[in-house]
Amino acid sequence: MLVIRETGDTLFAILEQACERVNQVDTSRKIVHIDMDAFFASVEQRDHPEYRGRPLVVGGNSARGVVAAASYEARQFGIRSAMAMQKALAQCANLIVVSPRMEVYKTVSSQIREMFLEHTDLVEPLSLDEAFLDVTRNKKGIPSASWVAQEIRATIHERTGLTASAGVSFNKFLAKVASGMNKPNGLTLISPEQAPAFVASLPIEKFFGVGKATADRMHQMGIATGADLLRLTLEELESAFGKAGRTYYWTEVKISDPSTRT
Ligand SMILES: [Mg+2]
Repeated sequence: MLVIRETGDTLFAILEQACERVNQVDTSRKIVHIDMDAFFASVEQRDHPEYRGRPLVVGGNSARGVVAAASYEARQFGIRSAMAMQKALAQCANLIVVSPRMEVYKTVSSQIREMFLEHTDLVEPLSLDEAFLDVTRNKKGIPSASWVAQEIRATIHERTGLTASAGVSFNKFLAKVASGMNKPNGLTLISPEQAPAFVASLPIEKFFGVGKATADRMHQMGIATGADLLRLTLEELESAFGKAGRTYYWTEVKISDPSTRT
């Protein structure tokens, strides 16, 4: 029996999500995930008009520097966050490299935090440019979570000149996946009715807590999507993935059929 060993952080996240899964059978919740588009890079392009429309990365420009953020123009060259700066420069000769201005990013981050708080106090930041908002009961009494998300995106653009993407669903897992689906400057809703089919077609790499090692092992087992995951029982997943297997089970089963009780 092979048990995948995850790093401490990942394991913590898995356990946290597992606990959340069990409590998240309620599809009436309204969760919005807001994610700024290419955040650091977009701030630099906002503040330096000459950088707009050009491939740009934010990060250390030394031999050991790493890309902290890449503009969408840079991404067309295959450049991604966490890539070695040397590699990024090799892939794009005209790459603009900008040193991070963390104070500026933090200021923008608290500006957008204020906008979130205009709608709900239930804000869970994941990083400077991302947060979950529970808008089930929101301060302005807006009945639709998508509507709240659109208003927040419009306000962010109006007050900071930057764009954000939003994901809307009835739990954090789906809201986060959704926000990545229409980037940049998009909004995606995954309704309770759409969730089962959506999860079934979702590549396992997109599942929370599935890292590289786990994804490789799953592919070896013929698991490529949520639907493949669903074919396995809780016992089979636990024997292959230990405690993490339970998370995958909950993610799949609970979201696919929120009425399931175990
Ligand atoms: Mg972002």
